[in-house]
Order: sequence, then structure tokens, then C-alpha cells
Amino acid sequence: MKIICIGRNYAEHIEELGNERPSEPIIFLKPDTALLKNNDAFFHPDFSNDVHHEVEILIKIKKEGKSIQKEFASSYYEEIGLGIDFTARDLQAKAKEKGHPWEIAKAFNGSAPISNFIPKQDFDVKNINFKLQKNGDDVQIGNTSLMIWEIDEIIAYVSRFILLKIGDIIFTGTPKGVGPVKIGDRLEGFIENRKMLDFQVK
Ligand code: ZN
Repeated sequence: MKIICIGRNYAEHIEELGNERPSEPIIFLKPDTALLKNNDAFFHPDFSNDVHHEVEILIKIKKEGKSIQKEFASSYYEEIGLGIDFTARDLQAKAKEKGHPWEIAKAFNGSAPISNFIPKQDFDVKNINFKLQKNGDDVQIGNTSLMIWEIDEIIAYVSRFILLKIGDIIFTGTPKGVGPVKIGDRLEGFIENRKMLDFQVK
């Protein structure tokens, strides 16, 4: 399986990092070695002093498809989840400055904690509340209605370039409120009132 991530999909997050609003979605990948499941602890890497949390709604692809049209995209996923796109912001800033790929900042081991997946039919996917708490405080609060590119548009766009296969996971972008984590922090993530993630930074 592969992990496909969407960058800059919430206007207020683009503003907080001082980024330009892209005219097309920005996509990047993480390897399967980035996955962290079952609320396993995240071990803070020693190569970064500024690892940020980015809480994101996930979708899991349930059938193979390429060049999927937007009007058919919703049939390519049945389940949603919650994940963290951990980002070594200091390494990413250096890469961006030089115009280099930012994989080492995004694709490192354990950089993609994911929750279990739940049926999308329980939700209006265009209006899902989700949030992240750090040590009990709300740090990121999002709603999928604020996405620049909605889920069906993401599926259509990504599948123009990359064959989507069963089990692939798409991270759909982070809302505002990203910030650093440190050893000892506890992160809890919610979709609506359901707790989806609860793990420690070690
Ligand atoms: Zn992200």
C-alpha cells in the first residue's frame, strides 16, 4: 500500500505558515514504514528539533482506479479515519528554501500514525468535525467543509497521476493550529465525538 498526502488544503493553515495558495493540489507520498498503528507511541526523532503535528482526515481506497472522474470518486472509498502527518518543520523549511524534495521531513519512520477506519456512511463527508488535543488542550479544530479541494476532487486529481489501489490511504490535509510536539506529550484525536487516536510522544 501507499500513503498519499495532500498539502495546503485549508486556507487558514496556508496563512499560518505563510505559504502561497496553490492553483492545484500539492501531493506527496509517505512510505508504508511511516505508519504507526494501535496508538503505539511516537518516538521523537533526534534529527529534528521542531516536529509538528498535523491532524488530518483519512480515506481508505477500496477499489483500484486511475483517472477517476469526480462524479464517481465517492465509490472508491467506504471508510474514513484520523491520522497525524508528522512533519519535521525545520528540515522541511531547509528543503523548501533550496527547492529540494521534502521527503526526509515528512516520510520518516513513524511519521504517519493512523486510527482505525470507520464507515463513511455515518457522516456527511463534506461536514465532518475533527480535532486534536495535546495534553488535554484543543490545538487543532477542523471541519471538512473548509477544504479547498473536497475528497472527491482529491481522488480525481491524484488518480490522474497515480494508480490508486485497494488499501491505499489518503491524508486529506491539515487545518490551522499545527505546532511542535515534545517527549512526554499526549495526543488525542477525535472525529466528531469519537476518540480515534490517543498516544504518547516518547
Ligand atoms: Zn499534512
